[in-house]
Amino acid sequence: MERKDIPQGLKWNPTDIFPSDEAWDEEYKKVVAEYGEYDFDVFKGKLSQKKDLLECFTLMDTVSRRLEKLYLYAHLHHDSDMRVAKYTSSYAMVAGLISKIFARFSFVDPELTELPDEVLQGFIKDPDFAAYEYRLRRIAAGKAHVLSEAEETLLALSSDVMRGFQEVHTMLNNANLNLPKATLHGEETQMSHGLYGVALRSGAVEERKEWFEKYYQAYINLIDTITSAYSGNVKKDVFYKTVRKYESCKAMALDGEDVDPIVYENLIEAVHSSLSYMHEYIALRKEVLGFEEQHMYDINVPLVENTEIKLPFAEAYELVIEGLAPLGKDYQDLLRHGKEARWIDVCENEGKRCGAYSAGIYDVHPYVLLNYQETTNDIFTIAHEMGHALHTYKSAETQPYAKADYTIFLAEIASTVNEVLLLKHLYNKSEDKQLKKSLLNYYMDMFRATLFRQTQFAEFEQIAHAKAEAGEALTKESLNEAYYQLNKDYYGDGIVHDEQIAYEWARIPHFYSSFYVYKYATGIISAISIVKRILTEGEPAVQDYFTFLSSGGCTDPVSILKKAGVDLTTKAPFEAAMKEFADTLHEFKTLLD
Ligand SMILES: [Zn+2]
Repeated sequence: MERKDIPQGLKWNPTDIFPSDEAWDEEYKKVVAEYGEYDFDVFKGKLSQKKDLLECFTLMDTVSRRLEKLYLYAHLHHDSDMRVAKYTSSYAMVAGLISKIFARFSFVDPELTELPDEVLQGFIKDPDFAAYEYRLRRIAAGKAHVLSEAEETLLALSSDVMRGFQEVHTMLNNANLNLPKATLHGEETQMSHGLYGVALRSGAVEERKEWFEKYYQAYINLIDTITSAYSGNVKKDVFYKTVRKYESCKAMALDGEDVDPIVYENLIEAVHSSLSYMHEYIALRKEVLGFEEQHMYDINVPLVENTEIKLPFAEAYELVIEGLAPLGKDYQDLLRHGKEARWIDVCENEGKRCGAYSAGIYDVHPYVLLNYQETTNDIFTIAHEMGHALHTYKSAETQPYAKADYTIFLAEIASTVNEVLLLKHLYNKSEDKQLKKSLLNYYMDMFRATLFRQTQFAEFEQIAHAKAEAGEALTKESLNEAYYQLNKDYYGDGIVHDEQIAYEWARIPHFYSSFYVYKYATGIISAISIVKRILTEGEPAVQDYFTFLSSGGCTDPVSILKKAGVDLTTKAPFEAAMKEFADTLHEFKTLLD
């Protein structure tokens, strides 16, 4: 379908940002004229003065807010129909302008780091800096890990080289992998990363085996090079943690988002000590799917066939609103408002970006891209993306600009809360046993893929880095052995641990952003605790959740979560999530004939 044939009410409305393309052009020219060549260096050397620092921060905010609006307007138009050259070029122009202007502010943080502690502490306590207080606290806390100017210059100059390991893996994983052909649904097919997932979900058993073996063989062929890349990447982390005086690579990575390392330890301990539930799930799969032997290539076969809830968008949206009733009338009203005010781009059209996302800016409102099809998954996608959108909306409404953005650590919580609430609502209201099974399967898959699997990855990263920190060489043998053992721990005896699975670490791009994936697991764990509280305690828990949604990035993420009643420095939320998985598994069993 062409975009022009889609009813206006189902398309988002970028004129809330600029009334017309001409208005965008005019503002772009103005920003270039005012700030394109602006001498931000006038603030250099003066940031110890309150007046200058306030002025500098305020100017940075002003410029950034104007750039954001330019960017989002071009971005929305570009994604609506990527064939339109005009928006491709305005999108590229504004992206270029942003990096040019922001590069000129790069002196600010290093200069603040150099300030004497008393001066920084004075600013932090000063109510005039209320909007910047957390930012200043982070700078003060980071002082211990900042080196001399000459050393910092060296580090900055070497950063490009240090990124090389990740680039090597990207090249190997894409350009050099040389995936062969394999049979899919009876036809000879060129293998690709995307089709690998399809084959493992829906191929016949011989096809799954063939894809699994050929896919892993491609990595085994390159394993020496991949080992060098991964080992280099870990050594890079050890280098930085040593020169920046961190206790460990993990502590350094977590400090990047101001997260207490105890959170990571709680996650791994709680999941590891509840692996018997995962083993029970694996046994259940074997039984339900009637496998004589269950292999690693069988793990993606759906436990039950998906029962589709087919609804036109308007009805699906009403169903989401109904499902989110536990969040209260204010939340439901905001959902209605978002739809009526045309925040959402609903349908697929020629040239439109695929997938779904929510993108927000401080001064307007969030926008949500969907490619809605009448499937159950897409109903969950509405709930998910509106979760992001309302989180952004409430934070922007409540926080000053400098504190409105929430970190990645918090980013998937509101979206998951909505999914889980909707799932429970659909489950409770349905009489259809097949649909009920299908919903529980969706939930258990979330646990398997987002909680258990990412924690397994997190544990592997911890082992690899600990070895390197202890001066042990990372070899393909030692990495394979560590991964294979984890796989056995996580999946248990109900599955054949095919030897190829030892190489799985070699294909995970996220391992080149060290200690990143645990956030997926803590996200779902936090969401489950929040849902539990809301469903058992009602109003007070909803109020706390609104406080969380309204907190943006006003302080460290673990403290923000505490406002919603989730304390990740304790074991309780982790154990509650494990119990939720066990309960779901047992509930599923009651539905079996
Ligand atoms: Zn999301």
